[in-house]
Amino acid sequence: MSTSQATNDIQGEISIHTENILPIIKKWLYSEHEIFVRELVSNAFDAIKKRQKIAVVDSIEAPVGRIELKIDEAAKTITISDNGLGMDSEEIQKYINQIAFSGAEDFVTKYQGKDKDDSSQIIGHFGLGFYSSFMVSDIVEITSLSYKQDAVAINWSCDGSTKFYLKETVKDTVGTDIVLHISEENGEYLHEARLTELVKRYANFLPVEILVNGKTVNDQNPLWIKQPNEVTDEEYLDFYQKLFPFSPPPLFWIHLNVDYPFNLKGILYFPKLLHELDSHKGQVKLFCQQVFVTENAKDIIPEFMTLLQGAVDCPDIPLNVSRSYLQNDPYVQKISKHIVKKIADKLNELYKKDKASYEKYWEDIHPFIKFGMMNNTEFYDKVKDCVIFKSSLGDSVSIPEYLERNKEKSENTVIYSTNKEQQATYISLCKDQGLEVIFLNAFIDTHFIQFLESKDSTIKYVSVDSSVSDHLVDKEKDSQIVDPADNKTENEKLETLFKTTLKNDALKIEVKSLKSDSLPAVVLQSEYSRRFKEMSAMMNRSAGVPAFDDFTLVINSSNPVVKNILKLNSELKTNDVELLCQYVYDLAMMSQKQLTGEQMQAFMARSNDVLKKLTEKL
Ligand code: ADP
Repeated sequence: MSTSQATNDIQGEISIHTENILPIIKKWLYSEHEIFVRELVSNAFDAIKKRQKIAVVDSIEAPVGRIELKIDEAAKTITISDNGLGMDSEEIQKYINQIAFSGAEDFVTKYQGKDKDDSSQIIGHFGLGFYSSFMVSDIVEITSLSYKQDAVAINWSCDGSTKFYLKETVKDTVGTDIVLHISEENGEYLHEARLTELVKRYANFLPVEILVNGKTVNDQNPLWIKQPNEVTDEEYLDFYQKLFPFSPPPLFWIHLNVDYPFNLKGILYFPKLLHELDSHKGQVKLFCQQVFVTENAKDIIPEFMTLLQGAVDCPDIPLNVSRSYLQNDPYVQKISKHIVKKIADKLNELYKKDKASYEKYWEDIHPFIKFGMMNNTEFYDKVKDCVIFKSSLGDSVSIPEYLERNKEKSENTVIYSTNKEQQATYISLCKDQGLEVIFLNAFIDTHFIQFLESKDSTIKYVSVDSSVSDHLVDKEKDSQIVDPADNKTENEKLETLFKTTLKNDALKIEVKSLKSDSLPAVVLQSEYSRRFKEMSAMMNRSAGVPAFDDFTLVINSSNPVVKNILKLNSELKTNDVELLCQYVYDLAMMSQKQLTGEQMQAFMARSNDVLKKLTEKL
């Protein structure tokens, strides 16, 4: 009993030996050595900002900020100098000697054993940034003169062990010089071109001049920090070129500018896509207070908006956690939600204020918008009324507009065509009766209308040649008069006639009066099987697709030819009737799909017969 109690009662602390920490940092914490540039330049920038802030409060002058990197190839050193607020001996001891180490302990106890890749971003957030310099250096020196009155310049140096040296020195100007004595294996950083590349990558948009060996290398114009109403279109376009050189101009953009309840700034561009599936285009660079963090901020951009390009600056984003955690982070979710809302707002604004441009952009962006709607309910709700389709009236139309325009003729039903050429006959039948048809072109559309129906079942979508809808049929015109001789209506007689002459059991035959009497017959297709076929085609599968049995031949009882056929039949001109019935069927099939070789031959033969009969009668 006493043993188990003893075991239960033991409490203790895991001891951490500080001597172990620098080797851990060097070996394991940083997967990318080059990050030291980002960390040291950000520290220099912070120091400059702090000095400027103090100057404002104390009403004194602060010099224009400036960061200089100098390479001494002979001495194998890189010196990073700033004219920020500097540090005195006490501050060096406090910030450099102590805090960092406690930060390191904190990190090690918290994250030891976690995924190596995820730890590469940890640095600045744990007060370890400065120590990244040891990844590339044998010795690091700090020479600093504080802005404070009567401050004494001091020199700190450390060889990466836990021992440091601190002494007074001479420095004329306020600020800090960090001297890195670059280690043998990190010689690449002593090349001006390489160092310049890194400064450009990480600090291009820091609003302070940065020089490498006397040459200014950064741009200093992070456009996103400006107020949107102060930025011209030209500036947005220029900025895009800086971020993505040699790209065609973007379509339009969204300027993100939020201070509260979270901090988010950035510009997102909708790029010009070269083709519908050019979706790998997207790349949103992530910055943290104008310091570059990563090439692609995938986690904060909604997944369906992979086409977006641009830059976002999220000072509060937790960079020190794994990606799966990041996606569930409430802050990241808020950002993502905000971006979704901004995209929706922008689309609505363009749609309402500049429809002509919107129609042009739509060509490029519609697959993404549709995909987004199918993936995100909030987005669907916000943009559903600005989804547009090309219309048979020549312009583009949204679904609410379509329903309004056609409410007299086609209540709550949207007539669409998936193939303008093949369905030309049906489209013109609709046009004849003043009915508008929308064109679905993209491969995503069959799926998309299915989705729209699932969202709002009060609106039906039917193909222009669909048998489920009566948009081509005029019910009132159909004669219901029964012939006392055989107790049948005209329509019933025609149906029997066509069934017996065509001798095709797989073909459904109906006799109806179409709204237009110009065609003797049309072939309609079931909505379900058409969609099924289209989706199979999209997925490149043709097996199991129903072929013929989903067609219905609709004989137009108001067409004069059909009326004549019935008359000839009553006069027992059997041969003529058979030829004409076949011929009507041929014509109807031709407007639905191309005839096979065999069908075409039969059609030619029948055409010759028809001509022969016609000429005989002349
Ligand atoms: P962090 O930047 O995350 O605070 P660092 O280890 O990079 O962690 O720096 C620790 C502290 O040392 C900074 O917060 C700052 O007070 C001080 N410091 C570092 N570099 C400079 C510099 N160039 N000028 C003035 N102070 C600095």
